Amino acid sequence: MNLHLLLGALIISSACCCTNRAEDIMPSWKEGYMDIHHIATGQGDCIFSVLPDGTTFMIDAGDNGLPHGSRHWYRRVPDTTRTTGGWICRYIRHFSPDPEYLDYVLLTHFHADHLGSLKGAVHGEHGYELSGLTYVGDSISFRTLVDRDWPEYSFPSREKILGESPLFGEYQKFISYHRSRGMDMQCFEVGSNNQFVLKHNPRRYAGKFEIRNLIGNARVWTGNGSSSRVIYQGDSTLFDENMPSCGVRIRYGKFTYYNCGDIPGLNFPRYKCQERDFESEVAKVVGRVNVMKCDHHAATDVMNESLLRATRPEVFIVTAGHREHPYPPTMERMLDKSIYPDDRQFYITTDSPKEDLGEELWSNFKPAGHVVVRVYPGGKKYQIFVLDVFSEDFKVIYASTIQHL
Ligand SMILES: [Zn+2]
Repeated sequence: MNLHLLLGALIISSACCCTNRAEDIMPSWKEGYMDIHHIATGQGDCIFSVLPDGTTFMIDAGDNGLPHGSRHWYRRVPDTTRTTGGWICRYIRHFSPDPEYLDYVLLTHFHADHLGSLKGAVHGEHGYELSGLTYVGDSISFRTLVDRDWPEYSFPSREKILGESPLFGEYQKFISYHRSRGMDMQCFEVGSNNQFVLKHNPRRYAGKFEIRNLIGNARVWTGNGSSSRVIYQGDSTLFDENMPSCGVRIRYGKFTYYNCGDIPGLNFPRYKCQERDFESEVAKVVGRVNVMKCDHHAATDVMNESLLRATRPEVFIVTAGHREHPYPPTMERMLDKSIYPDDRQFYITTDSPKEDLGEELWSNFKPAGHVVVRVYPGGKKYQIFVLDVFSEDFKVIYASTIQHL
């Protein structure tokens, strides 16, 4: 082969190689993009968003504290060489435009798979245990932390909260320490659309971007201004910690995303309370949704028909941690075209449920991994990427076609 041919061949092969590499990695976030990352840990919810002007917003940072799983709960992914909080921090540092800070953190409710657990917690330097949210917050500073009942923690009662949240005492110490260092602590305001706002360049997105607080502490937005109304006046001793979950709707241009933590929608017999249909209340005000983080991990008691009819999601994301995530009849309801006829796609953060769900239902899911919703400038189109949980550089293992709105 003469020298020119050889050089030509080298140039072509290196160009192909570069092209392949570029396609393997999700292009970086830039101004105008909104990225919503559903970080796969197998141990609970952690949704990290970079909003259009670079404001960062994390919803939950759970850790069930079961690195090797159990009969019903899944193991930690990718592996046990780091804590769940450690894996979350590594992920956020990789994708955040400002890896030292998170502008906003919303804790939807106090269960371990959203807050963290005493099981497997590590001792921190400041006098409290680190797991999930407290682990992440000691590594990446929170500018503002919002939860459902600060500072009273009396809804439905402090005893109830303590009974369902082993890490709660440590979380209180975490709040005291970080407030003394400047963290802003707030109680979730149901109905508000100005508790979570763009911090860096709000004028550029005025009228095009909004985070609406839909539900929390058994109150729901009325759809008028920022007013809310009570949706549960039953026996507070029957209350469980999923019921008061906080939920938000994020709108950017024509795009809408929904995340309501673990709010229930069905009165499943295993729960004490039989007045748990909160989804139908949200359904009255939320409107159409493009991408939905499934309530309560698509378990037994959620995704009721009135919510599905009102929201008609194009994309469902299941953040899975338990053998009933998703529960087969719940999955069948989400697939049911007699409820609404539109096409829909299904994403999930781990492939652990494959066996329990069975081949046929499982075949509806795209490959499992970190699920990233990317909304393009102006909120006129979006795309879903799935990133490999096990690769060092978060390789793209699936990219949807671009959806125009
Ligand atoms: Zn949960």
